[in-house]
Amino acid sequence: MTLPTLPGCGQPATVRIEIFSPASGPSGGSLDGSLYACEQHAADMVTALQAAGFNAYRVSGGDRVKRCGEGLDFTGPAPQPLTAPEVQHPTWCIRGKLCTDEGIHHSRPLTVVSGDALDLVRIWSERAWTVDRVSFVLETTVEGAVGYTYLTTEQARVLRHLLGRLLDQSKGSSRRREEGHSGGAR
Ligand SMILES: [Zn+2]
Ligand SMILES: [Zn+2]
Repeated sequence: MTLPTLPGCGQPATVRIEIFSPASGPSGGSLDGSLYACEQHAADMVTALQAAGFNAYRVSGGDRVKRCGEGLDFTGPAPQPLTAPEVQHPTWCIRGKLCTDEGIHHSRPLTVVSGDALDLVRIWSERAWTVDRVSFVLETTVEGAVGYTYLTTEQARVLRHLLGRLLDQSKGSSRRREEGHSGGAR
C-alpha cells in the first residue's frame, strides 16, 4: 500500500497524524507514516488517508516548527521523507514573524505620519497563506490600547475614494471660512 497524494500548505503545523495500515492498529501495529499538518489541512489529510484505506489518527504535534505536509512515509522498503510544499510569497510580503510563525503574508507596516495626531495609525496588507483574499489592516493605538480594522480590497478602494472626497470637501470649507473671515474683518 502506498500513501495517497496528500494536501498540505507548508504552514506551521499544530497537528501530527499517525498513519497505520488497516491490518495493523495504533496498539502494536506498525506505523506506515507520520505527517504534520495545520489545523485546516489535518481533516483533509485524514479524509484522503481513510479514502485510500489507511487508518489515520490525529495527535498534537509539530509545535509550529514542522510544516503542514512534512512527514515520513514508512510504506516502502526505506522511510521516505515527505516534504511540505514550498510557500510562494507574494512580492509585497516581507516574511516577518506574522508570515513565518502564523502563516499570514504581510507587507511592511506603514505609519500614517502626522505631527499633531493624537493616535498612532499604521496600515499594511496581509493575506493568509491558504486564502486568496488580501485584507488591508488599519491599526490604531489609542492610549496604549491597540485596535484593528480589516478592510477588503473593495472597502479599501471605496475608502481611498471617500477620503479623497472628504479631503477636497474640507479644503473647500476651510477656504470659504477664510474668505468669510477676511470679509468680516474688512
Ligand atoms: Zn495546511
Ligand atoms: Zn509571506
